[in-house]
Amino acid sequence: MSLGSYNVTGEVIYVETPQNKNSYIISGSYPDRYLATKDVLINKVDPVINFATYDNWTTTSDYTHINQPDSVVDMIVMIWRGLVFANWWSGEASLGYGNLYNVENGTIKIKAGYGNNAGSGVTIHYWEERPLEYTSHSTVHEIGHWLLGSAHPYGGPNDHGFWGIMRHSNDGICANTQERERLGWITPTLITSDVLNVTISDYITTGAAFKFHPSNGYTNEYFYFENHQKLSVFDYATRNDNDKGIFVLHQQDIYNGSNNIRCKTSKWSMELDIK
Ligand SMILES: [Zn+2]
Repeated sequence: MSLGSYNVTGEVIYVETPQNKNSYIISGSYPDRYLATKDVLINKVDPVINFATYDNWTTTSDYTHINQPDSVVDMIVMIWRGLVFANWWSGEASLGYGNLYNVENGTIKIKAGYGNNAGSGVTIHYWEERPLEYTSHSTVHEIGHWLLGSAHPYGGPNDHGFWGIMRHSNDGICANTQERERLGWITPTLITSDVLNVTISDYITTGAAFKFHPSNGYTNEYFYFENHQKLSVFDYATRNDNDKGIFVLHQQDIYNGSNNIRCKTSKWSMELDIK
């Protein structure tokens, strides 16, 4: 998806909780998740993982990272399995909130919040009623909050079908042009005049995309064009594998917490009245 720009290193481990699962359910809300995760990380994970290996980055501000340790673990993806804290809850971009705690004999900290210098990871909630695919989307989404911010820009009262890292886990989670461009993963081709007989190669595998600003539109209004040929398992813009073709996104204004993006695909009758 990042075409080699974003590389993740890490280990995957599986541990059993120190206590019976019923002892972790107290209120069904934040304190439970925080305390349960803390118990597992300190008593089960710390003895087998060297957390110092995963303290490599210091954040100074949004989109600014220095390759320098700060005695805080960079990123833990905590996936709970089989323990239902609350059945409406899919995950969160924190380790449950609450105070920081120490691992590695007090030399490394784990922070439980979200935001610059406030957190060390995300929490995902999985049990048998949730498909694995849904859980994998939740994982992408929660990590995505650390890449793109806390907002859910595509939700709201006029919820539109859409795909993107910041969409809901039931929807297509593949990163859209706006997100990939924001992260510096791709550079869409800007259309500034009439173009005819253009070839657009596959969006996911090549990063090709077009971007168009209507001259009579809003200042930050754009149309994005992506060719989804479903060549990659990450091409999950829609659930139907046969949905191949040009997908069009309409961004009405800047990317923020508002519901300002709409989309159409070439599968539907596409009427773009833009000049
Ligand atoms: Zn979210």
